[in-house]
Amino acid sequence: MHPFSYAQADHIDGAIASLGASGTKVIAGGTNLIDLIRVGVETPNQLIDINQLPLATVEETAQGVRINALARMSAVADAAIIRDRYPVIAQALLNSASPQLRNMASIGGNLMQRTRCSYFRDQAFPCNKREPGTGCPAIEGENRIHAILGTSRQCIATHPSDLAVALVALDAIVQLRGPDGERSVPIANFHLLPGDTPEQETVLQPGELIVAVEVPASHTAARSHYLKVRDRASYEFALVSAAVGLELNQGIVRSARIALGGVGTKPWRAHQAETVLQGQSINDEILTAAAEAALQRALPRQHNAFKVELAKRTLVRALSTVAQTGERA
Ligand code: SF4
Repeated sequence: MHPFSYAQADHIDGAIASLGASGTKVIAGGTNLIDLIRVGVETPNQLIDINQLPLATVEETAQGVRINALARMSAVADAAIIRDRYPVIAQALLNSASPQLRNMASIGGNLMQRTRCSYFRDQAFPCNKREPGTGCPAIEGENRIHAILGTSRQCIATHPSDLAVALVALDAIVQLRGPDGERSVPIANFHLLPGDTPEQETVLQPGELIVAVEVPASHTAARSHYLKVRDRASYEFALVSAAVGLELNQGIVRSARIALGGVGTKPWRAHQAETVLQGQSINDEILTAAAEAALQRALPRQHNAFKVELAKRTLVRALSTVAQTGERA
């Protein structure tokens, strides 16, 4: 294992000052980073442990809810405000990982987790994301779990986070703090498409730290749902997932929020599908039309064409479920 030094940060500005040094990584729960250090994919010179920073709470705000970056996945999923007003977030978290992992893993770390592409994790293979310019064996190789939306000639890896899919559907804002102060980034802009630089996965700059995620309250958030389809019933990453929210008025869609997971190189907002639903009453035909719109630009590879139909069916079922919930409420 690559040798590294370890230090604990006891205040936020001290942590940010340490992050400016080359080869420095932040560690919170460590559930992804430690794995990658063990296999030699991550080789930090220094780890800054931020677990002592006062960023572990979930707080109601005037606009909605603020989830601080060190809140654990389990605590967020259990918070009454999340269960009652943002069920899609609670469901995404509970479907993400085992209870042990949920107790360890932080919200900030969840947004920063790296892809599950097996070539990325195996140094016997080249990988543009791990070593820019070396190639992408997944494009012509084993690509069953890979992306069908947002891909490039350099990388077709999916983003692995369930939580990020739910947050994209709800128009969450990521709060960052760095040497020049705080800035707010809509989560839809936080993760980057691979393009020609798949090694750049987020807009986080050197020296910046995720301090919180803010989620606005809305009727669509309150009537929302997360549906995840995977190879086994638990502790598995999504083949396909759908995060949906609907605001209905006498059966007519006033507002729809849709994001897909397991199919995109980043958490995938499906604006075209939302437009199809706007002002319509919910029925099989309109749900099918929305699903077609969501996958219209899909570019499947040799082993993952099944994801196109699977994603459509997953989205239709998720929307049907939340529509029925809305009608009852
Ligand atoms: Fe690497 Fe991306 Fe290709 Fe996987 S899909 S091998 S992460 S470049």
